[in-house]
Amino acid sequence: MTRKIDSYDVIVVGGGPSGSQVAYKLAAMGYIVAVVEKKASLNGVVCCTGLVSRECVEKYSIPEGVIHRWVNGASLFPPTGKPIHVQRDSPQVAVLNRSAFNQIWAQRAQKASVEYHFGCYIKRITREKGKVTAEVNRHGEIITLQSRVIVIATGFGTQLLDNLGLGGAGDFAMGAQAEVETKNVNGSIYGVEVYFGKEVAPGFFAWMVPSAPGKALVGLLARRDNPFYLRKLLASLASEGKIISTDVKITYGGVSLKPLPHTRSDNLLVVGTAAGQVKPITGGGIYFGLICADIAANTLKTALETGNLSAHALAGYERAWHKKLNRELRSGYWARKAYEVLSDRQVTRVFGLLQSTGIIADLERNEDMSFDWHADVIARVMGQKFFTKTVGSIRDSFKREKPLGDAK
Ligand SMILES: Cc1cc2nc3c(=O)[nH]c(=O)nc-3n(C[C@H](O)[C@H](O)[C@H](O)COP(=O)(O)OP(=O)(O)OC[C@H]3O[C@@H](n4cnc5c(N)ncnc54)[C@H](O)[C@@H]3O)c2cc1C
Repeated sequence: MTRKIDSYDVIVVGGGPSGSQVAYKLAAMGYIVAVVEKKASLNGVVCCTGLVSRECVEKYSIPEGVIHRWVNGASLFPPTGKPIHVQRDSPQVAVLNRSAFNQIWAQRAQKASVEYHFGCYIKRITREKGKVTAEVNRHGEIITLQSRVIVIATGFGTQLLDNLGLGGAGDFAMGAQAEVETKNVNGSIYGVEVYFGKEVAPGFFAWMVPSAPGKALVGLLARRDNPFYLRKLLASLASEGKIISTDVKITYGGVSLKPLPHTRSDNLLVVGTAAGQVKPITGGGIYFGLICADIAANTLKTALETGNLSAHALAGYERAWHKKLNRELRSGYWARKAYEVLSDRQVTRVFGLLQSTGIIADLERNEDMSFDWHADVIARVMGQKFFTKTVGSIRDSFKREKPLGDAK
C-alpha cells in the first residue's frame, strides 16, 4: 500500500545500485525515504557487464541467486601475438545478472519501507529555506515531492548536475554491449576474454564475458565509434566460431572516468557513477558506488539528527570517500591516460613486460593484487624503465595536477 506522503526526509534520484543502497541504509536507520526512478521498472536490460569482486559480494552479501557465475581467470589478448592467461586457484570475480541485482537491491530497500516512484523523471530540483523541492514528470503529469535532503544517484550523463551547478563528468568513455549465444557455454576455457588494440577498442578494451548458460556479454568501452567497433568484434568472434549469431540487440551506456569536483552542496549529495566514483582502468562502478553510498548514508544520519544539512556540514562525506578512493582514482586515471598514448606495438611490449617481470605471476598468486584495488600494481608497472621513458611526460603532468579537492 502506498503511503499518502509527498514529503520525505530523503529523496534519492535513481534506483540503480548506489541509489537503492543509500536509500536502504537510511530507511533502516528510521528515516522516511523515497527513490524516484525514471524507468517504469527495473527488469529491463542494463548496459553493464556486472563483474564484481568476491570482496564486493561478501561485503554486501550479494545473494547467489543474482550471480550468473563465478570466474577465476581471464585470457588477455594483446594487439598482436599470443594471449596471456591469468588464472587464480579460486574464483575471484562474479558475473552478476545486472537486471536481477537492481531488482533485488530495490526490493530490499522496499522491505525497509523505502517508497519507489517508478516511471518518474526528476526534471528540476530547487532548494530553499532548508527544504528540497523536486519537480517530477510522472507519465506526463507534473508532481512535486519535498524532502530535507536529496541524493543524486542518476548514473552516467545526467543533466541535473549541470542544472545544479555541480558540472558534468570531467572525462568519460562510451560503452556498447550485446548479449550473444555462445557455442561453448563457458565462452572460453579461462572464462573471460579481454581484447586490446586500437583496431579493437580505441583507447580502451573489449570483452567477452560468459553470463547465463550458453550466453555471453560481448562489449567494449572506447573513445569513439562504439557501434562500428562492436559490430566488427561480433563479426570476428562469429568467424572464429565463438558466437552463434551477430544479429543481436546492442545497448549503449557511458562511464565517468573522473570524479566531480564537488559531490555535496546544501541539502544535497551526489553518489555513484553520477559522482564519478568509478575505477578509471576498467570502468567498473558498482563496488565503489556501494562503498560511497554507505559513506553518504552515515554522513546524512548525523546531519539529519543535528538538523544541519548545509554543504559545510556534509563535507565529511567528501572527505571520507576521497580518503577511501583518492589513491585508486588518481593512479587509475594516470594509468588510463598512459595506456591511451601507447601504440599497439608498445601495448604488446607492456604485456610482455607484465609477464617477464613476474607481475602476471603475482596477480595469480598474491591475494593483495585484487580486481578492485589497482594502485599497487600501477605503481609497480610505473617503476619499469620502459614506462619512465615512454610515458614520463604524462606522469609528470599528472603529478602536477591537484589532488581531489579537500572538502572544507
Ligand atoms: C558497457 C558497460 C559495462 C560495464 N561493466 C561493469 C562491470 O562489469 N562492473 C562494474 O562494476 N561496473 C560496470 N559498469 C559501470 C556500472 O554499470 C555503473 O558504474 C553502475 O551501474 C553505477 O550504478 P549507479 O547506481 O551509480 O547508477 P546507475 O546504475 O546508472 O543507476 C542510475 C539510475 O538513475 C535513473 N535516472 C537517471 N536520471 C534520472 C532522473 N532525472 N530521474 C529519475 N531517475 C533517473 C536511471 O534510470 C538509472 O536507473 C559498466 C558500464 C558500462 C557502460
